[in-house]
Amino acid sequence: MATCKECAFYKEVDETKGDCFGHEVPADRDVTECPTNAFKSKEETSEK
Ligand code: SF4
Repeated sequence: MATCKECAFYKEVDETKGDCFGHEVPADRDVTECPTNAFKSKEETSEK
């Protein structure tokens, strides 16, 4: 299963956490636990 680290909205802060819409999320959060169900794979977007 994918994790927040693989989400297009995830901006890495350090190895263990990142920023998502201004909220800090753990890098290894399973996307099924995404509070907004907004997971979008980085691979599906052209943004880097
Ligand atoms: S949108 Fe959901 S899956 Fe993506 S980084 Fe934020 S919490 Fe994680």
